[in-house]
Amino acid sequence: MPDCINCGTWNPEDKQLCWRCQTPLPKPPEKRPRTPRRIAGLPVYLWMAILFFFIMLFVSRCFVTELSRVVG
Ligand SMILES: [Zn+2]
Repeated sequence: MPDCINCGTWNPEDKQLCWRCQTPLPKPPEKRPRTPRRIAGLPVYLWMAILFFFIMLFVSRCFVTELSRVVG
């Protein structure tokens, strides 16, 4: 919310002048659409999913070998 730099009054965002003292208000910073962080062209969540998949694969393999050792 842009407060007036002169009198500190709150002004609606679309106003360009303070409604109280007519001081020109600073333009609010433009909202940039947040782009997800990317590593090697892939979004981070995809890397997380891949990593999770391999961890699960590894864990399940360990579990299976442990099980076969116990059974066999
Ligand atoms: Zn003002």
